[in-house]
Amino acid sequence: MTLLSVTNLSASYGKIQALRQVNLHVEAGEFVAVIGANGAGKTTLLKTLSGLMQPQGGHVQLAGKSLNGLSAETRVGQGIALVPEHRQLFGGMSVKENLLMGSYSRYTRAQKAEIEADVERVYALFPILRERQNQLAGTLSGGQQQMVAIGRGLMARPRVLMLDEPSVGLAPLVVREIFRVVAALPAQGTTVLIVEQNARQILKLADRAYVLENGVVKLEGVASDLANNPVVQQIYLGHG
Ligand code: ATP
Repeated sequence: MTLLSVTNLSASYGKIQALRQVNLHVEAGEFVAVIGANGAGKTTLLKTLSGLMQPQGGHVQLAGKSLNGLSAETRVGQGIALVPEHRQLFGGMSVKENLLMGSYSRYTRAQKAEIEADVERVYALFPILRERQNQLAGTLSGGQQQMVAIGRGLMARPRVLMLDEPSVGLAPLVVREIFRVVAALPAQGTTVLIVEQNARQILKLADRAYVLENGVVKLEGVASDLANNPVVQQIYLGHG
């Protein structure tokens, strides 16, 4: 089943055209990556899909229902959540409070037990967060902050979790751990759309991928095929 479907999506900042007629789809249970250089339009794509930015044109559907014109908050309720660039945590709040913020859209007394169970699920994915649950998020390492940001996204119980360059600024070992957890999410019922500059690692993990260049989808396909594509190897994997 196609969970997320994007048709002819365009977006701009004044005269700067950031996305041009982008088409992509994500099937339920897939792990899909969008790779591209600085300024390719990756963040703009996720901002537009999450409702933080209005597109110039095009259509976005989640499980066959149009998201066009819906606010970011409503989209979260429909099942599409964003783990933003630079994490954007509440630095003066604890790890657990940050996680709970992710569930605010469904936070009622009746849901309390369910929400606590979801916090436990995040701690199971990232055990260090259980140890640090009362620590202020702003005092965590970059990798731990990224784990909180992903956990907060999961607390909305999204059908699709979108991640904006979670590897930026993190040490290789931490990146590997985060990617390992993210790559396991589809099998646990959360479909993943990730944008990354780190093409080498993400193409090893993703099912399919798109190459975005100057706001245009240049290539798409099975991730392992793209990793063997000479153009991708030269430009994005630094071969030759
Ligand atoms: P990065 O890896 O640097 O985050 P990206 O692939 O996410 O890059 P975008 O941030 O989506 O790329 O940027 C796409 C284009 O839009 C670039 O040309 C960028 O300079 C421009 N752009 C992005 N944000 C703004 C803004 N707030 N105002 C004006 N132009 C912007």
